[in-house]
Amino acid sequence: MAELLTGKTAVVTGAASGIGRGISLALAREGADVVVADLRETPRTEDTTPTVEAIHERTDADAEYVECDVTDYESVENAVDVAEERGGIDIMVNNAGITHGPTFLETDEEDYYDITDVNLKGVYFGCRAAGERMVANGSGSIINVSSTAANQGFDEPGAAFYCATKGGVKSLTFALGEILGPEVRVNAIQPGFTAGTGLAADNHDEEAERARAAETALDRLGTPEDLGNAAVFFASDLSSYITSEALLVDGGWVNVGGP
Ligand code: NAD
Repeated sequence: MAELLTGKTAVVTGAASGIGRGISLALAREGADVVVADLRETPRTEDTTPTVEAIHERTDADAEYVECDVTDYESVENAVDVAEERGGIDIMVNNAGITHGPTFLETDEEDYYDITDVNLKGVYFGCRAAGERMVANGSGSIINVSSTAANQGFDEPGAAFYCATKGGVKSLTFALGEILGPEVRVNAIQPGFTAGTGLAADNHDEEAERARAAETALDRLGTPEDLGNAAVFFASDLSSYITSEALLVDGGWVNVGGP
């Protein structure tokens, strides 16, 4: 079968673990070389092969780990430069994200910056660094990882800032489609609760996972592969007339009423 992304080069932030790892593997499966940009090389999720190793084992694509902190512009620029040296950045996936912290009335300014620096400033930095190169190169696709939390609030420690950042990522995506177009398409993916990821493991036990699966229309949780397939769609020419869009990949959870 023909591959959809042969000859393309991607940068994926937060690519060592969870959804970022799934997206990296899916892009590589379709022929893209991947710059795995993360604070760490080994996955946060247990019993998982590092992303670069998995890509080399399972696909014909190439991959390289680059240490990257998305809260530091030079660090993000460096990851983009590595892709430029590999032939030019075609795909930027701004995936790195965190959630933790106290309940809202116990938060302070430090907690606010802790989450917003990674989840929103990090996405801005990725769009800024990749967007500049892509406009100059004449083409590119940026994919920002938002969340169902952009559509629905919920009450968990850290949730208020998390929801705010994920809504911000979605709105930033809508604006940048216009600002960086027509050369660059900018879209967002909104995962629902995704099994086998660090955020899921940090925040939910097995019982909560089962309950959440039952709330979806498809009676299961998402997987990093499900998100990877959505990223392939936005990265490839299959979505050539789609920009400033946000796609729920949540088994219908939001649109059938959520919890
Ligand atoms: P994860 O914890 O499994 O992986 C996140 C990766 O990001 C880790 O490898 C971590 O090292 C890296 N990272 C953290 N801070 C970073 C920084 N400052 N610079 C570079 N890398 C950094 O997370 P996940 O569950 O796969 O989530 C990935 C994305 O998907 C996040 O943006 C998250 O908000 C979003 N999301 C996840 C879920 C879910 O159920 N897992 C649902 C909706 C949205």
